Amino acid sequence: MTYTETLHKLATDTEAQVLTSFRSWQEGNITQADFLAVSSAFLAAGGNRATGLADLSLAAFLSAATGRAVPTLGIVPPEVDHRPELATIAATTGVDLAEQYATHARAVTLATAQDAYGQAMTERSVPGWTRVLNGGACPLCQDLAGAVLPGDAPMYHHKGCGCTQRPVLNQRRESA
Ligand SMILES: [Zn+2]
Repeated sequence: MTYTETLHKLATDTEAQVLTSFRSWQEGNITQADFLAVSSAFLAAGGNRATGLADLSLAAFLSAATGRAVPTLGIVPPEVDHRPELATIAATTGVDLAEQYATHARAVTLATAQDAYGQAMTERSVPGWTRVLNGGACPLCQDLAGAVLPGDAPMYHHKGCGCTQRPVLNQRRESA
């Protein structure tokens, strides 16, 4: 599996965990406070895994490209209490809550990986990167694809954006 595929599988796993705890709350098996705490922990764990995956993926890319064994950086994501945002969703009326939580869980996991990959490229002084689209990429992301940006340029990502970064080590050769 490619990095993008593995990341999307991870986002799907996190989404399923949050939805399982959402259903437990809806069925009256756990309290709302428990749901918020458990789901926040799932999102944090998913963020840790996404960060490790991004770190490892860049190290593997550089190992293959340079023929040297490049170790991971051991990047740790910022500590986030996800409960306030989860509570805000719970208080929203007129929406399909399960769908909202599914979208939120995916988006948080994907964004955490995008941030970690960007941080890793900056720390390693990677000269450039280009956007890799996921299957259902929106028109804006499709417009942004193809360009090579500086390695420390932040990645634009909308909520739920499933695009990933790919390093470009020799910009002249790639854009020719
Ligand atoms: Zn995108």
